Amino acid sequence: MLNIFKAICICALISNVAVSAKTFIVSPNKMTIQIPVKSNSSVLVAAKELQKHLQLITGVQVPVSNRKAQAGKYAFYVGIAPSDDKRHLQIEEARYRVTPQGVWLYGQDRFANKKRKTALEQVVDNRYAYVGTMFAVYNFLDRELKVRWPAPGDNNIICPKQNPLRLKVVAFDWIPKLKVRRLWSVNYSNWFYRRNIIKDKSIPKEFKFNPKQQKQKLLEEKLWQRRMRMGQSIVPNHRHAFVRWWDKYSKSHPEFFALNSQGERKPLRANGDNARVCMCVSNPDFQQEIVKQWLIRRKKNPYWNQMLNICENDCGKYCRCPECKKLDVVKKGEPFGKHMTDRYIAFANSVLKIARKHVPDVKVCMFAYQSYRFPPRKTRIDKDIVFSYVPKLWDSEKELDDLYKGWRKMGAEKMLLRTNGLHIDIGLPMGFEKTIFRNYKVGVKNNILGVAYDAIHGYWPSSGIVTYILARGIYAPEKSFEYWEQEYYDTYGKASPYIKKYYRYWRNNIWEKRIYPNRLKIVKAGFGFMRGGLYRSRGKYYSDADFDKTDAILQKASACKLKPEIRKRVNELILANEHARKLYHVMKAGTQYNTVDFSCVKKLHDFRLKNRDKVQFNWGRLMHIENRARLASAISFDNSVPVKRFANRWFFQIDPKNVGLKEHWEKFSYQRIKATWDRINVLTCWEHAFTHPDLMKLLKKYDGIGWYAQSITISEKVKGKKLYIRFGAVDESCWVYVNGKEVGKHLFKKSDDWKTPFKIRIDQEINWKVRKITVVVRVEDKAGAGGIWKPVWLVTDK
Ligand SMILES: [Zn+2]
Repeated sequence: MLNIFKAICICALISNVAVSAKTFIVSPNKMTIQIPVKSNSSVLVAAKELQKHLQLITGVQVPVSNRKAQAGKYAFYVGIAPSDDKRHLQIEEARYRVTPQGVWLYGQDRFANKKRKTALEQVVDNRYAYVGTMFAVYNFLDRELKVRWPAPGDNNIICPKQNPLRLKVVAFDWIPKLKVRRLWSVNYSNWFYRRNIIKDKSIPKEFKFNPKQQKQKLLEEKLWQRRMRMGQSIVPNHRHAFVRWWDKYSKSHPEFFALNSQGERKPLRANGDNARVCMCVSNPDFQQEIVKQWLIRRKKNPYWNQMLNICENDCGKYCRCPECKKLDVVKKGEPFGKHMTDRYIAFANSVLKIARKHVPDVKVCMFAYQSYRFPPRKTRIDKDIVFSYVPKLWDSEKELDDLYKGWRKMGAEKMLLRTNGLHIDIGLPMGFEKTIFRNYKVGVKNNILGVAYDAIHGYWPSSGIVTYILARGIYAPEKSFEYWEQEYYDTYGKASPYIKKYYRYWRNNIWEKRIYPNRLKIVKAGFGFMRGGLYRSRGKYYSDADFDKTDAILQKASACKLKPEIRKRVNELILANEHARKLYHVMKAGTQYNTVDFSCVKKLHDFRLKNRDKVQFNWGRLMHIENRARLASAISFDNSVPVKRFANRWFFQIDPKNVGLKEHWEKFSYQRIKATWDRINVLTCWEHAFTHPDLMKLLKKYDGIGWYAQSITISEKVKGKKLYIRFGAVDESCWVYVNGKEVGKHLFKKSDDWKTPFKIRIDQEINWKVRKITVVVRVEDKAGAGGIWKPVWLVTDK
């Protein structure tokens, strides 16, 4: 990498530098970027990045060349060390030196995986690539030219313009303090995108990227990570280790698997749980087999298998065999499965002992997670266990600190912070950046080796502040939250004070006063997940006044005199706040089962369509999560547009002898129905729908047939469109008739059918001269609650 010829010339120049010359000026037209004749991917990308940024700063495109620099040029030597620097480069190390004779930017580069096609694809692979040269360039841009990258993408590069360039004489070496620096970027990875975005039919096609766009987004986000100097110097291997063991060993070695509460060595549930089966960790043959398989894998891929992975599967149904139970340290009266750490430490210690016979300096990787996230009570920890520690976002600072100290006391030396804290994001501004950072700092204080955060969400204008401040903290762990916070605000130039006010508003009011004090309640409502609890809270922690106030702050920001690139970002923030208000309204409306008014859903959906490209949101991810939370917006995502809501009150007739079909009740005139049937409210099952004592008695535990009827008039405006009746849910099966003719049915086949929305097309039966239709629904319920129990809508296709 070192170009000796150039380096020698440079050395001669350096000796002439006057030491007193602290700052100097360079004309951009004289600048050149020099790279070695043979350059690796890190150098190639670093040179391109330097060129791009210098052009943004000076307005001049500086040529990149691998030939000798012409006389009179001022060179940026990328991937080339000055000849007098003979020091060994450590893994990931990055250095730069600035003098009036030139700038040297160089570092430790290495690529363990040569399969990636382009230079860019190679350098963003932070498992297999060390990119010290790129880090040198980014350190230089960051520290000397004050370049900031508040979000992925070249349109988010913020840098002070200058021409000529003013530089100061300086040298800077950087070796990352944290050996693992990862904010997972999975949003646009093939496996994630296919499984969660492409396959989710309720996400409209307008919000799905084609493979080319998806790849570009992926590379953009991953390049941003490098700009923020994410990477890893060591290669820990923390993944659930035994997910394929059931398929491989269940027949030959059933004794490898946990004895479950039914007294069997197999997964508790038959389908889909095989990857989540727990192991019988006390079994010595199982331990031997783990080491044997690791040694085989290690031969094939020594880089990735430097450490031995023994992370238990994601299950929580721990082995109940006597030998395993012997390893537990149980407090009096404590139920089984509450505290499993001692067992898992004993397991790791035993595996280490076996593995050391083959590889003396072996390290074993395990999680400190769920029931084994608490420090062991008695079992000492071998120094060569590398923990991936999974605390909870809602642990207090003191609780967290105590946990770390407890682990240290029992011998844990190598701990990585692996957290799911970012997963509380629901796309609304929330103000959780300081709590995330505080938890990170507790780890730093307790000497963590590194961090792995699951995961970047990509809602940049609402929670980009969280990701940014965290990434900056990971780059330089010694600096405070407030330091990076201010840096983030300053990326908004003259609007900085207002942006600070804006984000502080959410933090001081929503997070500190409303959400955080209620965190345990929210977690409980979400069945252990804070995000789920926040969706269920139905916007309770927000109000329209919050959006009015924050809008007013942003209007003041917008009134400042701003550079175009900053104006663009302020406008984006205004739009994002408008989006947040609309999303809040939908959250308030509830899930798709509770919603009574879908106009807010349509407003949100239209807003998203209109501003899709103006607001940097990962729409696919957001909508996927919303759909899973059954947020009301799902209705417009199944390609329906609400036209009219059926009244909640229907006419109802019980049919215990099932004679309705024979007597053709579906053909009854509406007059006759009105005169003879009872009234029922469809927002609950028929067991609970009546207040009349006789009917209550009759239907209290009724399973069988019931008939519903209602008449509605359809607007002329939707003539010519495909029209459907959309049922929020019917428990269990139903047949639908319009004007006496069957138009469709929904039969209870799968376990969720009683609560799943469905729609049935009806426009073929409408007489447009009359426009009034009678809808009759025959419902059959075989067990438990029954009937139409969610709102019914007339909808069209888009
Ligand atoms: Zn066991």
